[in-house]
Amino acid sequence: MIEVRNVSKQVVTTEGTLRILDQINLSVADGETIAIVGPSGSGKSTLLGILAGLDLPSEGTVSLNGKNITAMDEEGRAAVRAKDVGFVFQSFHLLPGLTALENVALPLELNGDAKALETARYYLERVGLDHRTTHYPRQLSGGEQQRVAIARAIAMKPKLILADEPTGNLDSENSQMIADILFKYIKEEKSSLIMVTHDPKLANKAKRKIKIKDGKIV
Ligand code: ADP
Ligand code: MG
Repeated sequence: MIEVRNVSKQVVTTEGTLRILDQINLSVADGETIAIVGPSGSGKSTLLGILAGLDLPSEGTVSLNGKNITAMDEEGRAAVRAKDVGFVFQSFHLLPGLTALENVALPLELNGDAKALETARYYLERVGLDHRTTHYPRQLSGGEQQRVAIARAIAMKPKLILADEPTGNLDSENSQMIADILFKYIKEEKSSLIMVTHDPKLANKAKRKIKIKDGKIV
């Protein structure tokens, strides 16, 4: 369902051209779980951003369910991202002015779900936060914020979840909870999961491990 073909990324800096990704090839089947590991600065986040259509490669293509997202304009990529891809970040990325419930409901509303609040409530319940619906992000612990972020992602029923160090700011108990929620969703919905992680416990839960060094798969 995901085909990455010869993806490279260069950026021009004051010190010259920097090659962040170098000829990446990757195929991910439906229901597959992948951990991307590798040293800091090796290009992991850049790759996830390109898979999400948040960023474009300098060369190569990314296809999602047969759709070449690298050939789409920003609007097209945004539409695919909203419908097919859930993104979970290390730093949660919740909207500070919205409650937990509103954070989860917002993408549903934008997607035309007439029962967005009801759906959002159901997903907050699924991540064990039914008692935190009216809390603002600053009133929640890190683990709780990440569970809200995951509820927001899975409520859209994405076929692909991309997670960039989802447990990077959490203790082991919260990390375990986050892992359980993510893997339960993937199993139930036969979606795919690609996560970047430094956490060996989390990486070992994935079916496949990919190591990146200096922008290359090694
Ligand atoms: P990782 O997630 O593996 O730590 P990143 O993908 O964030 O690595 O970054 C890889 C390298 O590319 C880093 O050295 C980073 O500083 C550099 N980099 C990323 N994006 C840009 C950019 N837009 N301009 C210049 N350098 C960048
Ligand atoms: Mg990174």
